Amino acid sequence: MKSLLESGLAALGLPTEAAPALARYGELLLEKNQVMNLTAITDPADVAALHFLDSAALLTLADFRGKSVIDVGTGAGFPGLPLRIVEPSIRLTLLDAQNKRVEFLREVCADLGLSDVACVHARAEEFTADHRETFDFVTSRAVAHLRVLAELCLPLVRVGGTFLAMKSVDSGAELEEARRAIELLGGGVEKTLDYQIPGTEVLHRVIFIKKFEKTEKKYPRTFAKIKKHPL
Ligand code: SAM
Repeated sequence: MKSLLESGLAALGLPTEAAPALARYGELLLEKNQVMNLTAITDPADVAALHFLDSAALLTLADFRGKSVIDVGTGAGFPGLPLRIVEPSIRLTLLDAQNKRVEFLREVCADLGLSDVACVHARAEEFTADHRETFDFVTSRAVAHLRVLAELCLPLVRVGGTFLAMKSVDSGAELEEARRAIELLGGGVEKTLDYQIPGTEVLHRVIFIKKFEKTEKKYPRTFAKIKKHPL
């Protein structure tokens, strides 16, 4: 996996020094995946491309240096942890509602010596109560429909910061359905950027949602309400 990561990072124009740490993370992921469900992708080459390089590609699309970042619904750490491994100046919080996944992330961080990464077991809509509008960037991949995700993520973004939603290239209709919610929450769609994962034909998209105004205190609602009546 290490050589694929090295060549992929180089193709992205990113430093390759992080490849051994990412490869070790990949080993821990595949080992733990034998006993708990962390990823459906199990071929090491696919893990390198579809988890690590897909995540790292975000670093080529926005300037994360020195920024506070929270990855909402991070699961086994994607995209947040690869971002922090490749760009060590990121102040990272990994958030997930499933404690077993958060425990795995703590093990990975301990193994890699990443003592400053906060691994938090909480639901985003509950975590927001004490952390409103505090992060420069919120990232999220494969967690929910954008209409729902916007209510989970935008309250955490500081005014002037950005929510980066990682989506497929056929997410155009999903974005249109979410526009009203994004505006109600104080955000606006700044741009969408498509990128190709090195060594693959896979094209993915990042939707950049800028926070223009504070989100009204009534958001986020409980998850039951968000699901039943998405904005
Ligand atoms: N982002 C990772 C990735 O791309 O591989 C994991 C995706 S996984 C399909 C979705 C994750 O979102 C799960 O681990 C789940 O526990 C988490 N999740 C769903 N709703 C959440 C919420 N409201 N707050 C925090 N985590 C949530």
